[in-house]
Amino acid sequence: NDPLVQVQNLKIHYPIKKGIITRTVGNVKAVDGLNFNIYPGETLALVGESGCGKSTTGRGIVKLEEPTDGKVIFDGKDLSSIKGSELRGVRTKMQIIFQDPYSSLNPRMRVGDLLAEPLLAHKLANGAEVNRKVDELLEIVGLTKGHRARYPHEFSGGQRQRVGIARALILNPKLVVCDEPVSALDVSIQAQVLNLLKDLQKEFNLTYLFIAHGLGAVKYISDRIAVMYLGKIVEIGKTEDIFKNPKHPYSQVLLSAYPIPNPHLRNRKRIVIEGDVPSPANPPKGCSFHTRCPIAQSICREQTPELNGIEHSVACHFPIS
Ligand code: SF4
Ligand code: MG
Repeated sequence: NDPLVQVQNLKIHYPIKKGIITRTVGNVKAVDGLNFNIYPGETLALVGESGCGKSTTGRGIVKLEEPTDGKVIFDGKDLSSIKGSELRGVRTKMQIIFQDPYSSLNPRMRVGDLLAEPLLAHKLANGAEVNRKVDELLEIVGLTKGHRARYPHEFSGGQRQRVGIARALILNPKLVVCDEPVSALDVSIQAQVLNLLKDLQKEFNLTYLFIAHGLGAVKYISDRIAVMYLGKIVEIGKTEDIFKNPKHPYSQVLLSAYPIPNPHLRNRKRIVIEGDVPSPANPPKGCSFHTRCPIAQSICREQTPELNGIEHSVACHFPIS
């Protein structure tokens, strides 16, 4: 089974500028050397605290950010080496759904025009075909063609996210990056939107990169989980394995904060870690988690652990078995 997406040593660093005569004084290492694949039809969840680089990774994969180093191979094509119409064609195949449906939709455009815009921009339909596609997509996401003439502010948060989903799907993508698609919604609405995403995945054979800071939705929707900390993946494996047997101390912390009673964690104590996440401009030497890790040893302060393992990989000198 060939991967749809191959992320190879991906780094996205931002310069920190200072002074009146601007000079670069350092680098924010938002994404710092990621290696992973996304397979066709799967949902890979990317989980971690805010600021760990999840969204930047998602944006890097769909080429909304340029990599500082490394590359993304999508459907066999190295995205750094294609240009022009070939790149525009590939871009339609990877779409993103944003966290906040309030700010990701232009408030002055009617929903029908919001959905037609990507079709027209890529010259994928014209005339009556556009309206037909728009109506079809509205129906697919649980809205009606009567909604076509309305403005985003006339919708509820859940409906607005349905519009965001329709806009992402209208170009027939293969990959959809879902960047915290339910975290801005009322809890009562979250399950509906997750169910919709699941149904659409089956119907249209979609592949998802599902970004989330918590593990609740992730357990329900993902096949595999990658845990991120300070721009790096610290553990990746099947959802079931991560929940049953988290090997990285940080994954254990995330799981022990998981609010829904979890039979696998019943006998485990809630682990609390001290301190804030260090700045990605100045990550700790060695294992970047050592400043907060309850089991850190001296080697952890010196040597950076590499991701190890095939199906279930962990980057830790003392993984928990
Ligand atoms: Fe903790 Fe050391 Fe493992 Fe890092 S490498 S997570 S500091 S035990
Ligand atoms: Mg984010």
